[in-house]
Amino acid sequence: MTPKVIPLHATGVLFPNEEPVNGSPPSRQTAQIRADNRRRLLLTLLHHQPISRVRLARRTGISTATVTQLVAPLIDEGVVAETGTDSAGLTAGAGRKPTALQLVAESRYAIGIHIGARRAQIALGTLDARLLDLRVVPHRTGEAAEVAIDRLADAALGMLADAGLRAESAQVIGVGVGASGLVDSEKGVNVWAPGLEWRNVPLAALLSQRMGLPVAVENNVRCMALAEAIFGAGQGKPVLAFVYARIGVGAGLVVDSHIYRGAGYAAGEIGHWTMLPTGGERCRCGNTGCLETLISERVIVEEAARLDPALVDGQPEPMESIFSAGRNGHPAVRQMLEERAEYAGIALANLVNALNPDLIVLGGLLDRGYDIFAPVLKEIVVRRSFNGAGTAETIRRATFGERSGPVGALSLALDTFFYRQTTRRALPAYINAK
Ligand SMILES: [Zn+2]
Repeated sequence: MTPKVIPLHATGVLFPNEEPVNGSPPSRQTAQIRADNRRRLLLTLLHHQPISRVRLARRTGISTATVTQLVAPLIDEGVVAETGTDSAGLTAGAGRKPTALQLVAESRYAIGIHIGARRAQIALGTLDARLLDLRVVPHRTGEAAEVAIDRLADAALGMLADAGLRAESAQVIGVGVGASGLVDSEKGVNVWAPGLEWRNVPLAALLSQRMGLPVAVENNVRCMALAEAIFGAGQGKPVLAFVYARIGVGAGLVVDSHIYRGAGYAAGEIGHWTMLPTGGERCRCGNTGCLETLISERVIVEEAARLDPALVDGQPEPMESIFSAGRNGHPAVRQMLEERAEYAGIALANLVNALNPDLIVLGGLLDRGYDIFAPVLKEIVVRRSFNGAGTAETIRRATFGERSGPVGALSLALDTFFYRQTTRRALPAYINAK
């Protein structure tokens, strides 16, 4: 039996205690405008709290009356609280200070499941993406996708139980999955995960059936980009690119805090930009000379082994010994790493010229070896980007470092099931029937 899929944009009850206007339910368009306003309001609250209704109105461009209207049910639901006063923006002696509002971060919880090439990481977190628990579930070789997903669901439910939470509780809003490779986010299907050899795995359906929670699925690098945009360095930066390099190389793009996927989910596949038109190594995508064949972990490890086999042989974490050699007087290794940084820098300059992002965040190997890579690639970005579009300040390392994956998956859950829609989605009948 093919499990049913929860549509990501299911028209559930947007907000249960919202009374229909004039006795009839709001039109789809009205509901969408209201949802957009609410999301803008919640994100502004998150980024500028504590903040008064008046300042919220000013920052969001929503009228004070609408802000008051939107905030009232949020207070009733316990996700926003009135706390103290907001003196910002007031001139001396301007009268009574307005009441400040604050998000109650611990009023709702979400789960993030990051599926990496070698292991999965499961996070439990609050509305501000603070991690309460983080667990690692290694992949087992040769295991069927369904079996692996069962173990992930068990681990996630166990984590909820240990935190004293039940999946059925309205406090738990949903699950975000950062899957590897190609993802159909509308259907919640992992179309192709090359490292795991998964094809057309209905992640959302399988996990929501097992866990009794709504599940959103997105490519894991896009999740990391979303985490930076909403909870990390990207706040107030309209166009953000998160560039991740490890086994694969790719970029997650976020525009105005919405993930940009392109026409067929292939936006940001910078790992397959042609860097060497002739003579390049064959890439797993079938082409030759792709960026991925020049800066992935496999290539760096192979190059390092050629220079000094001791850096790699028998090392549990060869990248650590390679970076450490690059830092501590191994000139050939340093030079090899800086050459990789040059290729990355050229790719980033191209990215700047294509997208002109406000911010490029580096994750994975580019974050772990940031001290070695950054000076080289920043210099190239500044030199090669058009008319000063890229500066040294355009580039920074990942806010969440090694936790970018799980925080990313958690951010997907928070954005999908809270910031876009403030109550738990109506679950499909097959879950309620159980
Ligand atoms: Zn390729």
